[in-house]
Amino acid sequence: MLPDDGRFGSGPTKIRHEQIEDLVHAADTLLGTSHRQKPVKAVVESIREGMTRFFNLPAGYEVVLGNGGASAFWDIACCSLVTRKAACGVYGSFTKKMAVSAASAPFLEKPAVFESDYGTYRLPEFTEDADAYFWAQNETSTGVATPVKRVPGSVDQGALTIVDATSAAGALPVDISETDAYYFSPQKAFGSEGGLWVAILSPVAIERAQAIKENATIPGSIRWIPPFLSLTSAIDNSRKNQTLNTPALATLVLMDSQIQYLNENGGMDWAAARCKRSATIVYDWAEASSYATPFVSDLDARSNAVVTVDIDESIPVSDVLEALRANGIVDVNGYRALGRNQLRIGVFPSVEPADVEALTHCIDYVVEHR
Ligand SMILES: *Cc1c(COP(=O)(O)O)cnc(C)c1O
Repeated sequence: MLPDDGRFGSGPTKIRHEQIEDLVHAADTLLGTSHRQKPVKAVVESIREGMTRFFNLPAGYEVVLGNGGASAFWDIACCSLVTRKAACGVYGSFTKKMAVSAASAPFLEKPAVFESDYGTYRLPEFTEDADAYFWAQNETSTGVATPVKRVPGSVDQGALTIVDATSAAGALPVDISETDAYYFSPQKAFGSEGGLWVAILSPVAIERAQAIKENATIPGSIRWIPPFLSLTSAIDNSRKNQTLNTPALATLVLMDSQIQYLNENGGMDWAAARCKRSATIVYDWAEASSYATPFVSDLDARSNAVVTVDIDESIPVSDVLEALRANGIVDVNGYRALGRNQLRIGVFPSVEPADVEALTHCIDYVVEHR
């Protein structure tokens, strides 16, 4: 009754065997070689083209990448994209961290924070003096998905829309024209390793980064842009299919393999439908179960990438997790900081819906045979 593959983590996620085969091939051709030379640059180019196709990028949008993961991009956005003040939606651990970054930058005003209880969401609302709006499309800590639509009035005030899509990109549908910076790491839906960030930038965001950089170099400016967090240098390097400093080549190869897999199968529509199918299996199972309940009550806010399910307090989830892990089913624990008796199941495109079905039977079996 076991799934063929027991990896249901929310990041890092399952890496498909075919990706490993591509990595083995790369071992002979480019691992251990310079990222400034043509073979590695061709992989970066292929990733940038693959993303352009997958997200059907409007004219002028660019795929930019660098080292440090989505966490680094929080600080990059504060250094290089926010002019004076951000407005942030906060409804889980990751959106909270982003708002803390904005609050910590000494050259920015305190952000406007729009907060809601975990398991729900609240988007940032129109804020008079804001020039950037922050939120996450998928709050990985709670399994809440949000609409990606510009805040009314934000374009007229010249503000940027900056969306953390770390666990959404590649799994949930998006209209990129509703964003100016849509950023993510490769170890979630793109089934690669961590350590890298990718940001899809609008022409307005690129202009903003350039203007902030120019102002920051005027003597007396209090803004410090550490070279590692400079978005303009990331843009310059990405245009040459490079990164500012040395990237993990295996991460690039695995990511390139995955973006090709997604595009060959039908791109965003295919990936989103597959994730929805897997998520629905879990939600339907939980709704019908006597001991499991979907954590997110608002049906429209239930994520099709990360599914959270509360387990009745009479059944310690740690016992269930232990039995599952002993049988090769891993990483379905809830987010620690949430502190709930909860399972959290990553249903990214690499996960087979049939394995998700098998997982629900295994959970039932473990609970019955405790
Ligand atoms: C995983 C995650 C991050 C952090 O990504 P890193 O690559 O570890 O920096 C940020 N935001 C969200 C929504 C995430 O799911």
